[in-house]
Amino acid sequence: MEKRVYNFAAGPSAMPEEVLKEAQRDLLCYPGAGCSVMEMSHRSAEFQKIAADAESSLRRLMDIPEEYAVLFLQGGASMQFSEVPMNLTHQGETTAYIVSGSFAGKAFEEAKRWGNAVCVGSSEEEGFTFFPKIKASDIPKDAKYLHITGNNTVFGLCCNTLPETGGVPIAADWSSAILGREIDVRKHGLIYAGAQKNIGPAGLTLVIVRKDLILDPADRVVPTMLRYKPQIDADSMYNTPPCFAIYMAGLNFKWLESQGGVAEMEKRNKAKAKLLYDLIDASDIYSNRVNKEDRSITNVTFTLPTKEATDRFIAEAKDAGIINIKGHKAAGGLRASIYNGVSMQAVEYLAEFMEKFRV
Ligand SMILES: *Cc1c(COP(=O)(O)O)cnc(C)c1O
Repeated sequence: MEKRVYNFAAGPSAMPEEVLKEAQRDLLCYPGAGCSVMEMSHRSAEFQKIAADAESSLRRLMDIPEEYAVLFLQGGASMQFSEVPMNLTHQGETTAYIVSGSFAGKAFEEAKRWGNAVCVGSSEEEGFTFFPKIKASDIPKDAKYLHITGNNTVFGLCCNTLPETGGVPIAADWSSAILGREIDVRKHGLIYAGAQKNIGPAGLTLVIVRKDLILDPADRVVPTMLRYKPQIDADSMYNTPPCFAIYMAGLNFKWLESQGGVAEMEKRNKAKAKLLYDLIDASDIYSNRVNKEDRSITNVTFTLPTKEATDRFIAEAKDAGIINIKGHKAAGGLRASIYNGVSMQAVEYLAEFMEKFRV
């Protein structure tokens, strides 16, 4: 087998090796089915059990109460930028958005197509270096929800303390921190996440939503495929679901449970992040511009003094078996995404490389 490299990709990203190996073992023949998961009907008893087990495992991992639906959808987190307003509000109604990064900005733009979306806090002018603090009184009285991007993947900042909303439900994009840190579902009306960061392969989108918040029916113009209610009624199988991605997510959930669950992952991710941030803070050449209390434990961004040094860092890292360390084009610089699938050993290897690198 070819050697696996140290992969710090922001998404699709590294998955736990045990999970990949289990999938490999069962790739040709899923036990008892005589065929691959990719080849079986989504209506078969085998697949129904795969999907139901994945959901119950996730419910245990995140302590998701009964009054919340769990949906396995498609379209990515980006589709939710539209689906959230379309399912929770009538056209033209007011919603509130905190713009703490590029994906947050995109979510806000989509919401404006549907209704009266109001920005109640932004760190755009400061280059997304902090999570904007707001007061409950900043949220319009008639806002149906407050949208936040829990973890800003591109700039590496996180909403480490949820805002006080005075009872307005929080709808949050937790794509890049879900299952990597504890998230109190009860403090949210809705949580969504693209799977390719910390759940499983691309192609699957997770939505956790308090059922009483969903408009039923949604406005007439909302296509059936974009409505939550028909998907809830059909256990996320209104049409063919992303079967293989759901199966892989299920394996990952099972692995997470065997490792001690989300609390343990948070502990590990904090230790991994601390190693890198301590190194960056003590260094003369690396820097991180994010407000310390808003730093992400899953996406660590840093810069070198010059473009020449940055390019050479990326090239030399590649020779050392470290890939996908380049920052997002909107942020520049460098970024190490250190989700659950990235081991402490991989982060130690990166830290050693960073220590040795000279400008
Ligand atoms: C990656 C990401 C997205 C986009 O996800 P897609 O599944 O590609 O649509 C949106 N929001 C956040 C916070 C992300 O990290």
